[in-house]
Amino acid sequence: MATDADVVILGGGCAGLSLALRLAEQPGLCRRVIVLESRQAYQHDRSWCFWRLGPHRFESLVARSWSRVAVRSATQAVQVNCAGTPYQLLESGAFYQQAEETIQASDTVRLQMGVTVLAVPQPMSGGWRITTSVGELTAAQIIDTRPPRLPQRGDALLWQSFLGQEVICDSPVFDSSRVELMHFANDLPDAIAFTYVLPLTNHRALIETTLFDPSPYAPADLALRQQRAVQRLCGAASSRVVRTEAGILPMGLLSSGNTDPQLEHAGGYCRVGLMSGAARPASGYAFQRIQRWADRCSTAVRSGYDPIKHSPDPLLTRFMDRLFLDVLRSHPARGAELFINLFDRVAMPRIARFLSDRASLADRIAVAASLPTGLFLAQLLRLVQRARLRERLT
Ligand SMILES: Cc1cc2nc3c(=O)[nH]c(=O)nc-3n(C[C@H](O)[C@H](O)[C@H](O)COP(=O)(O)OP(=O)(O)OC[C@H]3O[C@@H](n4cnc5c(N)ncnc54)[C@H](O)[C@@H]3O)c2cc1C
Repeated sequence: MATDADVVILGGGCAGLSLALRLAEQPGLCRRVIVLESRQAYQHDRSWCFWRLGPHRFESLVARSWSRVAVRSATQAVQVNCAGTPYQLLESGAFYQQAEETIQASDTVRLQMGVTVLAVPQPMSGGWRITTSVGELTAAQIIDTRPPRLPQRGDALLWQSFLGQEVICDSPVFDSSRVELMHFANDLPDAIAFTYVLPLTNHRALIETTLFDPSPYAPADLALRQQRAVQRLCGAASSRVVRTEAGILPMGLLSSGNTDPQLEHAGGYCRVGLMSGAARPASGYAFQRIQRWADRCSTAVRSGYDPIKHSPDPLLTRFMDRLFLDVLRSHPARGAELFINLFDRVAMPRIARFLSDRASLADRIAVAASLPTGLFLAQLLRLVQRARLRERLT
């Protein structure tokens, strides 16, 4: 049966637009693509940071690039030169604008704003039927980037909840040459809490209050801590908030939360994005992983193959991330020490490669060697015992 589109992308955020812009540039066999996005218009709603390991397609959009990062607690501090792998900031507003312009100039991709997908897509002969707020649509293939459900305790080993504010001060209170990656508070018994500061100029910074905790937290829960962080950092300077952003990122997803797993087994449908395998467990970061997925998925669909999901991480990465997150979850009070040791003892290029899925075996060994062996071995033993018990019970 003829369909309205070859590919319909549900959700035009980072993953949806990253794929759409590649198909707009080079459609191949995929000549009718529709992106359905529920927002009426895009705003600069998030700041994507990553370590630059080499040339990338968004060089011209990079708003800031830093050569120094710091990690600290009340008792320890480490500052690292990362000039070889600079920490870069890409503002989502610039990304959305470039994607919109590329799509507008293409004959093959259409972006429909203000359209909400209302129900689970239904398989039909030769494709899929999609129900939206403006009517029905059929497609040969669907790439679904919508989050399956709201973050819930139990769906991830830890949730990274954060509230950030872009603040302008009337005096130069920020050191614009250095990112404060993590300034740990250590005042919560069961969570890891820290402030993240991206200095945009000496007067302007994005200040973020972040929690790693088994439960997700809404921005309102973090508002008081955030207010105190802004006061501490701005000191006597008068300040105003010009933009706010917030998020809840999964660290070690345990359940996809997919309401209809059968969909995954039907041909021509796949679920991707932050809550469907894009986020790196150890960091919650997803931007670079989404770009790599978009490269592979666009190649597949433009060549006439089914869309593809995020690749699972290599076994060793999964093992290391799982153990690291388990230790953080069981010993949140030691979180600051673990991160400070990592940045103090491991060469920066190794850390950047490790966090960007580009680690060699030597990088992994260096990362593992920086961590307290006894603590990790005890946690590993507990994991093995738990797995054995589960085996016996089932
Ligand atoms: C504030 C913030 C800062 C972040 N910072 C970083 C960072 O520094 N580095 C990093 O690597 N990662 C970062 N991340 C994590 C990750 O890169 C982003 O969350 C990224 O946007 C995930 O892309 P996505 O396409 O999965 O989700 P989104 O970009 O959220 O896209 C999903 C889209 O689906 C749309 N949608 C949802 N439901 C429907 C529906 N029913 N119908 C139609 N459309 C729908 C939404 O409107 C949205 O546009 C950050 C996340 C946030 C929230």
